[in-house]
Amino acid sequence: MAGIKWKGMSPDEERAVDEAEEWENRLFAKYPKLFSYRGTRSWCSFDSPTGWRPIVEQACAALAEFEDVRLAQVKEKFGGLRVYYDGNVSDRAREIVHSIEEQSFKTCEECGAPGKLSHVNYWSRTVCDEHLAAWKARDEQRRTARERSLATDPTGRYKR
Ligand SMILES: [Zn+2]
Repeated sequence: MAGIKWKGMSPDEERAVDEAEEWENRLFAKYPKLFSYRGTRSWCSFDSPTGWRPIVEQACAALAEFEDVRLAQVKEKFGGLRVYYDGNVSDRAREIVHSIEEQSFKTCEECGAPGKLSHVNYWSRTVCDEHLAAWKARDEQRRTARERSLATDPTGRYKR
């Protein structure tokens, strides 16, 4: 289950949603057993961190080697990749999952370049310097816009 489309999304954003879904579907098709969790397809919400796709692909390839490992969920949590899985899991499989999660904390989730866990306004993400700067700029823009609208009209309602 990739992202959700809503009214007002730009064509680029819609394309990104389609693209994320196609990528997920390719993974599901490649590793049907790994993604069949308790009779249903695992819920994999990556929130489209495209920079982590190679890590996720690597994880799937490694874990598919284990006969009884099933992925329950793969998602971003506290700025890193979290892999939930099930089965009679060996130490080796646990090690693989652990190293994948560690790797996500060193990899920019946007572009896959070396990155580090960063925080902006109580949000945590793992990003490279370039994407950290872009993220801060976006955050600043949002804050300025909010302050400006409050300054124009402290009640929060626009009077004309
Ligand atoms: Zn980056």
